Amino acid sequence: LAVTTACALLLTACGQNSEGGSREKSGEGARTIGIAMPTKSSERWIADGRNMTTSLKKAGFRTTLQYGEDDPDQQVSQIENMITQGVDALVVAAINGEALSNVLQQAADADIPVISYDRLILGSPHVDYYASFDNEKVGELQAGYIVDKLALKEQPDKGPFNIELFAGSNDDNNTKYFFNGAMKVLKPYIDDKRLVVRSGQTRLNQVTTLRWDGGTAQRRMDDLLTSTYSADRVDAVLSPYDGISIGILSALKSDDYGSAAKPLPVVTGQDAEAASVKSIIAGEQTQTVYKDTRALAQVASDMVGAVLDGKKPETNDTTTYDNGKKVVPAHLLPPVSVDRSNYQSVLVDSGYLKAEDLR
Ligand code: BGC
Repeated sequence: LAVTTACALLLTACGQNSEGGSREKSGEGARTIGIAMPTKSSERWIADGRNMTTSLKKAGFRTTLQYGEDDPDQQVSQIENMITQGVDALVVAAINGEALSNVLQQAADADIPVISYDRLILGSPHVDYYASFDNEKVGELQAGYIVDKLALKEQPDKGPFNIELFAGSNDDNNTKYFFNGAMKVLKPYIDDKRLVVRSGQTRLNQVTTLRWDGGTAQRRMDDLLTSTYSADRVDAVLSPYDGISIGILSALKSDDYGSAAKPLPVVTGQDAEAASVKSIIAGEQTQTVYKDTRALAQVASDMVGAVLDGKKPETNDTTTYDNGKKVVPAHLLPPVSVDRSNYQSVLVDSGYLKAEDLR
């Protein structure tokens, strides 16, 4: 009778449970999963929160979702609250990868498994699994695009070209993967001086952008244009994220880039956010890296289901992601390079973005 009543109240959850095996502890309601996301200031994370909620609900779980608004302390207290509320598992996209050790100890003490979402949580043994994309490949795609666009391979006599480098937030573990992946591709050309970083800022710690902030990137680009490019032109900018690309493009446009005499440089990006795809269509930003957050949410949701059922989730990388305390078994999805030539088929036809979002 209890089950019938619960099913009458929770039609979707019961429908799923009957197919996927019951996730309900007897006498209790559906299990609740706490989802901690970093910020609502970027479209991608809004989609991640929505997709995670949808995937987990479909699998018969209840969810509670919190955004830390790029404040690591706020994220810690949100996770603490979820633990106090008695969530059954946690899915966390960290703001500061190193700030969660204490709160994850509390989770472990309460027997709550933790899935690290997109960004690896560092310095804690209490990270069960990692769901992400091939982060090094993201950087390789961005840099490979620059190399192709400048025809560095096909035309060995072309150049030298001026390039400036931007990286993400120094407290996000992904940042160094993106940057190292990109530098692996760019370094041979920088070494033989066909690509020149006129500012001389080539080390990761010289080019990071705290909290991935577009305004910070815009100010750095403004400074570079004034200090280094009053007589020269910049031909390419490695940008790790669409929000940063938009900031870089604003700085360039204020410096009269975008005319026939002074064309915009090749500018990369990441996340296929609508504003950037529009910019790509308009011929401003050149490229972005699409990561299907719907698929990522499905992977993370499957991990939660497996762990709570005492099963081993599917992983495809058990060697790369050492968080300082353990190598966290990971499931990595493939990123895809997108520009004007393929945005329609990759982003619109797949339903990731709607045509009207791009008008
Ligand atoms: C994510 C990227 C995103 C960046 C800024 C990274 O951790 O992997 O997809 O562009 O954070 O939000």
